[in-house]
Amino acid sequence: TGSEEVHEFKTETKRLLDIVANSLYSEKEIFVRELISNAADALEKLRQTQSVESDVDSGKPLEIRITLDREKNQFIIQDFGIGMNLEELNANLGTIASSGSKKFLEKMDKEGGAGSKKENIIGQFGVGFYSTFMVGNKIKVYTKSAFPGSKGYCWTTDGQGSYTVAEAENVAVGTKIVIELRDDAKSYSSELEIDSIIKKYSNFVGYPIFLNGKEVNVIEALWTKDTKSVTPEQHQEFYRFIANAWDDPQYTLHFKTDSPLAISSVLYVPEKHMELLGEQTKPGVSLYSRKVLIQPESAGILPHYLRFIKGVVDSEDIPLNVSRELLQDNILSRLRMVMTSRVLKWLDGEAKKNPKKYDEFFMDYGQFIKEGACTDAMHKREISKLLRFESSKSENNSMISLEDYAARSQEGQKRIYYLLTPKRKYAEESPYTEMFKKKGVELLYLYDTVDEFVVNHLKEFQGFDLISADSPDAASDPLLQMERDANSQALSDAEAQDLAKWIETSLGDEVVKGVDVSRRLNSFPAIVQEHESPAMRKMMQMMQGSAK
Ligand code: ADP
Ligand code: MG
Repeated sequence: TGSEEVHEFKTETKRLLDIVANSLYSEKEIFVRELISNAADALEKLRQTQSVESDVDSGKPLEIRITLDREKNQFIIQDFGIGMNLEELNANLGTIASSGSKKFLEKMDKEGGAGSKKENIIGQFGVGFYSTFMVGNKIKVYTKSAFPGSKGYCWTTDGQGSYTVAEAENVAVGTKIVIELRDDAKSYSSELEIDSIIKKYSNFVGYPIFLNGKEVNVIEALWTKDTKSVTPEQHQEFYRFIANAWDDPQYTLHFKTDSPLAISSVLYVPEKHMELLGEQTKPGVSLYSRKVLIQPESAGILPHYLRFIKGVVDSEDIPLNVSRELLQDNILSRLRMVMTSRVLKWLDGEAKKNPKKYDEFFMDYGQFIKEGACTDAMHKREISKLLRFESSKSENNSMISLEDYAARSQEGQKRIYYLLTPKRKYAEESPYTEMFKKKGVELLYLYDTVDEFVVNHLKEFQGFDLISADSPDAASDPLLQMERDANSQALSDAEAQDLAKWIETSLGDEVVKGVDVSRRLNSFPAIVQEHESPAMRKMMQMMQGSAK
């Protein structure tokens, strides 16, 4: 080796090192993710550089090798990437917050290098490397630039405030980092531990990672591929992998957008949802940025009622904070808006493509959609399209959408009528439905307790008010009046009014608020109107029960 130079980190740097090593990251294990990301960047830079300068080469495969030594307590990571020359070593590893990767991108941008894809480069903050100080007593970096005629160097630090650089013999092109693990970080020489950390954060990194000789990241980042090139089998495999499942997705969505945010995403609806009564499944969509995990199964990406959806969303340009663990709140809420609308549009599209299949989906997942109708006021219109109900006119207990109802409503009809009923049979025999049948006005049958809350939240759909069949509004609807038969023996209007008065005084106001004449009945003498809703009644009964 040649002459050795000792460099002091600047004072500010010492303080910064302390911050990075002790408080930037919530988990020590992050150093694995950071080193792999750097190695992947180095390989990507080599690949991109080679496309313009063919004599730049490492002579080795584009891969990352991690070796663990339990005896020596070492974590070693090697890549055959672009490497660093002396100047780059000092600039990139000797200076905090200096990112060679960011500079590389800027240079590529300017020169418009062939095959340059900025979304493939992960690094941007220039602090990731220092995460090794959380786990290492001593860190050695062997590196040699892939540009012809370069020399090899060894860079060492104990993380305390100085580093040394020296020329070194027998250094392979690329970079090899050897970490002597601290006593409290010995577990990072365990293969099992590192295997799970790699799979957690770096499973989709674009270059093969070998751990003690075995390849660990065999699953591709499917979402980055061209949407048309992915086969159903590939989706099935990917779905099973990310959802940890054995079934097949019943719906698959693979999409990319550029505005308002650059997003690549794959989303799946499992064959069946796994939620049991009283239990709630975790959110199923993980957030990635440039193929590196940012938030696993994040609660921020989709609203709670869409928790049954599994998948991945990758946004290459979301502004991460330096630790990559958080993103700015306003960005997350924008991402959530985009994703929510996209998912609702997707389900609506599937429903139109294959209504029968969608009905089956709704039988199983309807509770989630209804939960959304009650909780997500912002997307009320989109969600209301996804609802399905049985109706007086639907055959074989099939279901219809509110759109279907509106489309085939009668001339002059301004309302969507529904009846809360435990069973179709009761509804069909009910005096409330008599006039609907006679006049051919369609009636939705709502069987589920939650349905009442759903219609109360929606209130209207495409200009149609949602009205209960047993409400006074229904009674006064001109569409629902019995015509007067000229030669019938019915009471005259005046006689009917007198009778109503008499009934009202006889029953007294303890029993009724009032008695009215109506033309909405044919074979029934009278009906109760404006009583509490079934859900309300249930609640009252419960309250009375507990009062006793
Ligand atoms: P970032 O990756 O955000 O740029 P890091 O602190 O992780 O910040 O790394 C700083 C810089 O060091 C990188 O931008 C890169 O230029 C250089 N570097 C780190 N690791 C390697 C490596 N394995 N091969 C080549 N250069 C590297
Ligand atoms: Mg980095």
